[in-house]
Amino acid sequence: MAKPTGFLEYSRLDPDKRTVQERIRDHREIEQMLSPDNLILQAARCMDCGVPSCHAYGCPLFNRIPDWNDMVYAGHWKRALDLLHATNNFPEIAGRICPAPCETACTLGINQPPVSIRHIELQIAERGFDEGWIRPEIGAHATGKRVAVIGSGPAGLAAAQQLARAGHGVVVFEKDDRIGGLLRYGIPDFKMEKRVIDRRLEQMRGEGVRFETGVLAGLDISPRFLSRSFDAILITAGATVPRDLDVPGRDLEGIQFAMAFLAQQNRVNAGDDVPDPISARGKDVVVGGGDTGSDCIGTARRQGAKSVTQIEILPEPPRERHPENPWPEWPNILRRSTSHEEGCDRQWGVLTKGFRGEGGRVRVLECVRVDWSGPDAAGRRSYQEIPGSAFEIKADLVLFATGFVHVEHGPLVQDLGLRLDGRGNIEVDSGFMTSAEGVFAAGDSVTGASLVVRAIWQGRQAAEGIKGFLG
Ligand SMILES: Cc1cc2nc3c(=O)[nH]c(=O)nc-3n(C[C@H](O)[C@H](O)[C@H](O)COP(=O)(O)OP(=O)(O)OC[C@H]3O[C@@H](n4cnc5c(N)ncnc54)[C@H](O)[C@@H]3O)c2cc1C
Repeated sequence: MAKPTGFLEYSRLDPDKRTVQERIRDHREIEQMLSPDNLILQAARCMDCGVPSCHAYGCPLFNRIPDWNDMVYAGHWKRALDLLHATNNFPEIAGRICPAPCETACTLGINQPPVSIRHIELQIAERGFDEGWIRPEIGAHATGKRVAVIGSGPAGLAAAQQLARAGHGVVVFEKDDRIGGLLRYGIPDFKMEKRVIDRRLEQMRGEGVRFETGVLAGLDISPRFLSRSFDAILITAGATVPRDLDVPGRDLEGIQFAMAFLAQQNRVNAGDDVPDPISARGKDVVVGGGDTGSDCIGTARRQGAKSVTQIEILPEPPRERHPENPWPEWPNILRRSTSHEEGCDRQWGVLTKGFRGEGGRVRVLECVRVDWSGPDAAGRRSYQEIPGSAFEIKADLVLFATGFVHVEHGPLVQDLGLRLDGRGNIEVDSGFMTSAEGVFAAGDSVTGASLVVRAIWQGRQAAEGIKGFLG
């Protein structure tokens, strides 16, 4: 245990963020680092609660949080790093962008601010890189077996690393021009700069993982070729089909999917020449609710939007946990992201009825306010339009951040004959094998759109399934 009385002596400290004025002038990361002395005191707040819900309930990766808090407090950084890596391939990524369900499950959080788990994780990983402790871990012997990983998001990368370290020959096929999936082209640089991915890829190349970009599996290479050339296939293709809105005016210019907007900015940040990019400069921008919407707000602000409005069909969440949503559950409360701090008008209980434009370009969103009923016997809530509540929002740029439906049902899924579940995700058994022998799947393509830590966990589990399959 870190320090028995630490939680009584020290308050939670969060790392500083760059000021809004400064940070909206660039796309660099916002969060700064706590000093080493302060970090140790934060680790000291972990109180050996006996039933660490952070580890067993909160963290999808089952990170051994109380143990590495103890090690940080005792100055055993290398041991803390090893323990962190025992459950998480990319703690420097989770340490930057995880919404930290571990913290909302921290026992101290019942009546005090929880331990700063996410930031401690980040600093353990960063120290590992600074000290040169993170190097390729080359498998002891080559098995002679080959595995194709389709898709290079966190699920595919975690699986590829685990498999390469077990001695298998791993090739990652990615249809995009760079490796990383949504880490690369979804998540904005102000949350995570892309050098963070590149540093890990360097390690993975050293471990023998081969990366092939610009390859659309299913078309550029056929499922038949994959099956004949590899002993196992892992599909980690994400859930990239966006949810659309079928309302009048949908086809007006200036209405875009959030991912198109975010990916372009990430490409510009990477130094690519993007002809005629979608720009928010000088525009009235309207974005959907949720985290992807929030990433659009920050990006639109940095591009110089005139105004940003975020609309959400759901009602405004409460500021405190509802009694029916007790600790250690994930609290459904109002959250304010760094993008919200940068300025936007947030509106709740708003339904988009249609768009109007001039000269083929969107100018106005036609909306109505909705009232949500309490849950029915099955726990479902429904909404009703409030009579007479119709209103309009001025908009030159509308960004759809309405979520993702499922993995693409293209030739890869079809030709391999993969069974899908009721929501259109790839169905897998307990060993992450799909309905096709030797074909595995993991990440968002199995769960639907989720979180990076869940994708990493799924990738690791699928790697275990493949290792068992390959004997
Ligand atoms: C804008 C945005 C911001 C997000 N922010 C966060 C956050 O802050 N924290 C968090 O925890 N989660 C966040 N998420 C969710 C998180 O990014 C995903 O849950 C996670 O990336 C899923 O990982 P994955 O490996 O399953 O798939 P993905 O990351 O989607 O990667 C799938 C890859 O497969 C490739 N691919 C697909 N089909 C083929 C094919 N046929 N051949 C070759 N390649 C193919 C795709 O090009 C893609 O690169 C965010 C999501 C979005 C959209």
